[in-house]
Amino acid sequence: MDSLGEKISYIKGLASGLGLEKEDSKEAKILIEIIDVLQDIVYAIDELETSQEEMDEYIQTLDEDIADIQGHIYGEYDEDVDRHVPNYIEVVCPHCDETVYFDEDMFQEEDDITCPNCDEPIYTECPEDDEDDEED
Ligand SMILES: [Zn+2]
Repeated sequence: MDSLGEKISYIKGLASGLGLEKEDSKEAKILIEIIDVLQDIVYAIDELETSQEEMDEYIQTLDEDIADIQGHIYGEYDEDVDRHVPNYIEVVCPHCDETVYFDEDMFQEEDDITCPNCDEPIYTECPEDDEDDEED
């Protein structure tokens, strides 16, 4: 990257090559002043960039820490729910009219589902009880 510092150094080199500092004209004095101010600005920007980089690093570290903490607070909790509480399908038994619950996986894998209440087979073609998060 052709940095501002390099550019200002080049301009300063040009100015001194032209003998600008030895000239006694008002224009030469103004040019020298402008170059000095430019150099100050370049230094100021350089410092800002440095502190900006430090800020970015700091924020990134904070962000990672927060993600870590969130993982501990929410992540484990969610995982816990996903692992230990399977999706249940609610079915009203056509034989005994009892509302019974089946593990979704079991419901999809097995053909013969029997009512735990009356032991009669239950056939349900498309369970539509859970409208919340049934999408796969
Ligand atoms: Zn039943």
